[in-house]
Amino acid sequence: MEFCPKCGALLMPDVNEEGKTVLRCKSCGYVKEVEKGEIEETYRIAHHISHEPREEMIVVKEEVRTLPIARVQCPKCGNDRAYYWQLQTRRADEAMTTFYRCTKCGHTWRQY
Ligand SMILES: [Zn+2]
Ligand SMILES: [Zn+2]
Repeated sequence: MEFCPKCGALLMPDVNEEGKTVLRCKSCGYVKEVEKGEIEETYRIAHHISHEPREEMIVVKEEVRTLPIARVQCPKCGNDRAYYWQLQTRRADEAMTTFYRCTKCGHTWRQY
C-alpha cells in the first residue's frame, strides 16, 4: 500500500489515458506511474475488492491498525491521538513529511 505524498490519502490502482497502470489519489488527483508487475503484487487484494466497498473498508481498517499512534491534537475534532506515518519526498535531501490520521474522526493532515 502507498499513500499520496501530497495529501496522505491511500493511493488506489488505476489506468491512465494511455492505458498504463498507475496509482491514483482519489482525493487530490495525484498520479504515480508504476511498473505493472509491481502494482499487481502490492495491490492484488485491493484491486480484487475494489468493486466490493464493504470488503475494501475492512482492508483499510487492517492497514490503519498497524500504524503507530502519536499524541497530537486533531485540528478538526480536538482528539489527542492520531495514527502517523512518514514519507520521503522525491528528493532524498528533503526532510521526511509526517502524515497524521485522527483515531476518532479519521481526519488526515500533514506536518510540514
Ligand atoms: Zn492526494
Ligand atoms: Zn479528529
